[in-house]
Amino acid sequence: MPLLNRDTADVIIVGAGAAGLAAAVFCARQAPGRRIFCVDGARNIGAKILVSGGARCNVTNRVVTERDFWGGDPRVIRNVLRAYPAARAASFFADLGVALQEEEDGKFFPTTNRARTVLDALIRALNDAGAELRPSCRISGVQRGAHGFAVSTQDGHTHDARIVVLATGGRSLPKTGSDGLGYQLARALGHGYIETTPALVPLILRPAEGPAEGPAEAGHYRRDSLHTRLAGVAYPVAVTVRSDGAGAARLEGSMLWTHFGVSGPVMLNASRHWLRARLEGRAADVLLHVLPGATFSELEAWLREQQREHPRALLRTVVASGLPASVAEAWIAAAGIDADTAMAHLTREERRRLIAGLLETPLGVVDSRGYNYAEVTAGGVPLSEIDSATMESRVCPGLYLIGEMLDVDGRIGGFNFQWAWSSAWVAANAIAKTLRA
Ligand SMILES: Cc1cc2nc3c(=O)[nH]c(=O)nc-3n(C[C@H](O)[C@H](O)[C@H](O)COP(=O)(O)OP(=O)(O)OC[C@H]3O[C@@H](n4cnc5c(N)ncnc54)[C@H](O)[C@@H]3O)c2cc1C
Repeated sequence: MPLLNRDTADVIIVGAGAAGLAAAVFCARQAPGRRIFCVDGARNIGAKILVSGGARCNVTNRVVTERDFWGGDPRVIRNVLRAYPAARAASFFADLGVALQEEEDGKFFPTTNRARTVLDALIRALNDAGAELRPSCRISGVQRGAHGFAVSTQDGHTHDARIVVLATGGRSLPKTGSDGLGYQLARALGHGYIETTPALVPLILRPAEGPAEGPAEAGHYRRDSLHTRLAGVAYPVAVTVRSDGAGAARLEGSMLWTHFGVSGPVMLNASRHWLRARLEGRAADVLLHVLPGATFSELEAWLREQQREHPRALLRTVVASGLPASVAEAWIAAAGIDADTAMAHLTREERRRLIAGLLETPLGVVDSRGYNYAEVTAGGVPLSEIDSATMESRVCPGLYLIGEMLDVDGRIGGFNFQWAWSSAWVAANAIAKTLRA
């Protein structure tokens, strides 16, 4: 499909995901009468919004700060978030008729519980503001041209635009259209590239038939079999991602055991640390703390007290008082102890081995499930190449970059969409000023 009926646009926004759609709305509202086109290679616009948040779309969070993100310079992230904070995003959606409700951990979802409500509202707002949305229009190249930029489509057309916004996303869930081509477009215009990895992605553990690392005594467990045994079990834990030559990252939240390994918010948040370490050639592992906050001496005192007070109680019953029964059993088995051991017969050595495992168990992560299962992408276009007051490229004036294609990735909880809304607003505000000038 031809991109435009005429040769020249004021603004071409490449990518109609969360960031591109929002930028089109903000820009067209502030610069009425200008030709603003939002194009996307996908035939169906907004596929990623539709699957987000379990198809409910976690639009933003009550509190969003630079501390909820990893990637480039936190000061850049802070400037962008402060220019368009979460509260403004929430009232923007309320004005579009998308009422939001706050849920656990400050997450905001539409009261309809349908991501479709968010997507439809954005598209309606884009049309009402006078911008034009063009699906099935994949951009294959952007070059500097006589009128600013020459934008080439995959079907062989070339169009002029005074300003170009790249909002092409990262590489996560590539079937939605975000397949990394945007990085090439940015590179061709002089931008750098920080190697990407999946982020917010489930982790794969060493399979059951694989060799266990280390002897099965003294705190080294056959953890390779834990995930298959516990698949489907979820509960709150803490994890530490420890890697050679870098500080450890400690995270808390709910985890989910799966048939291939681990998932759930805390593991998704941990994944980027493990993957970045591997990318940088640093040996890393994820250490699981099934009793977050407990210390060795506290657990020892508690178990000894149980031995004194309830000598005939079974070990499985005692440990299950603080953990899901299946987890308690798995950790007892991993410590090489019979779960039906009476407390009176638990040896000092067994007790210590069990405590060591409860306090810290290396998971033996071997990989992630990759971009097809990742919610976001870590790495991308360096933030140092963007002016955080405008989102304009420092290396190619007239070019703006927003959303996930930049070297910013947020944790689970609506933070990544907030980055999309905030960066879109900052760019649109600056572009509208330029267009009005
Ligand atoms: C399963 C899943 C669940 C998620 N849930 C949440 C959630 O609940 N809350 C949250 O905050 N975040 C969530 N995220 C993350 C969030 O969806 C993304 O961070 C956000 O959508 C990024 O927006 P974006 O516009 O930058 O990129 P994208 O949404 O990836 O959009 C980029 C668009 O650019 C188009 N494009 C790419 N290259 C070209 C080209 N050459 N020519 C034309 N078009 C092109 C693509 O087709 C795509 O439509 C989730 C992600 C996934 C995968």
